[in-house]
Amino acid sequence: MSLVTRQIQLVSRPDGLPVPGDFRTVEMGLPAPVAGEVLVRNTFLSVDPYMRGRMNDVQSYVPPFALAAPLDGGAIGEVVESADPSLSVGDTVLHMSGWREHAVLPAGAVTRVDGSRAPVSAYLGVLGMPGLTAYVGLTRVAEVREGDRVFVSGAAGAVGSAVGQMARKLGASRVVGSAGSPAKVAWLTDELGFDAAFDYHDGPVAKQLATHGPFDVYFDNVGGDHLEAAILRMADFGRIAVCGAIADYNAEAPVPGPRNLMMLVSKRLTVRGFIVSDHGDAAPEFHRRAGQWLADGDLSYRETVVDGLDAMVEAFLGLYRGDNIGKMLVSLG
Ligand code: NDP
Repeated sequence: MSLVTRQIQLVSRPDGLPVPGDFRTVEMGLPAPVAGEVLVRNTFLSVDPYMRGRMNDVQSYVPPFALAAPLDGGAIGEVVESADPSLSVGDTVLHMSGWREHAVLPAGAVTRVDGSRAPVSAYLGVLGMPGLTAYVGLTRVAEVREGDRVFVSGAAGAVGSAVGQMARKLGASRVVGSAGSPAKVAWLTDELGFDAAFDYHDGPVAKQLATHGPFDVYFDNVGGDHLEAAILRMADFGRIAVCGAIADYNAEAPVPGPRNLMMLVSKRLTVRGFIVSDHGDAAPEFHRRAGQWLADGDLSYRETVVDGLDAMVEAFLGLYRGDNIGKMLVSLG
């Protein structure tokens, strides 16, 4: 018997900031799972900044989203029908068929998650892809060491909030963050143990950063003026892990680079970009260590949860307005 369910599709490629009209919600029938498949009812859907890049028709490390087809992305769901012996009704699973209420998936496309270690939504955030991004960015890309002074931008987001706390666990002596509101800054310094934080709306980043640093490591989530300001404040032989450049994702024309690249030479800096999916082999180590930090109370996280598929497009657009503290999620109840 087919199940009637809903999914969100991209119908036009955004030019600059996406608008709700670039998306549509479609009702459709789903067939019952056949041998080797499961029917999953999604309970949490992830919206992530990288999804903006997939809306452009350009070649990149992941293929662009197709038009008039379901979008995809991280999701947590509950198995409601199983035609595979490895999965049972009631199992909670992580998979990549988000932006929809239900999905029929091969058993091999889902991973069972353990809800006894943490609330299951954490597997889309601090124990999921964003957490792993923070971990590999620090350990493998920036190669953070005992005593390092670390600056992270986008510090109150899913990745950034994990970066600041993990940097400390990995030996950093000083952690500074930038974020987009006084409430976010207060969360970083009062609850997450950042030594200092500032709101980048309060003045030029270079001016605000002038009172901090020098830094041995910069974890860049933002790009633009943040990157230029960080280069200015790096210590000799510093390392910059380039994780993202959200300030540029909706730019309508190519964005000029930092004006001070000569400082990479004079300060002998290392600048290294990375993509978390190249580091899947780090996942077991990450899960072991992050799980322990969480259990010990050394790793805190927050979620900004909006309700219902109808709120999903706005949740996604909210990432570019800074609507979220911590991980932005959509709950389907
Ligand atoms: P976040 O939870 O950090 O959400 C995005 C945040 O970015 C917003 O809350 C907002 O916070 C901030 N932001 C939005 N626009 C701007 C702007 N113009 N200037 C400065 N800050 C802005 O998202 P994630 O933690 O999921 O991702 C953080 C970064 O990491 C992104 O760049 C993302 O693309 C990247 N990433 C890279 C991966 C990789 O493999 N390389 C994997 C996962 C993420 P605020 O209020 O502070 O402005």
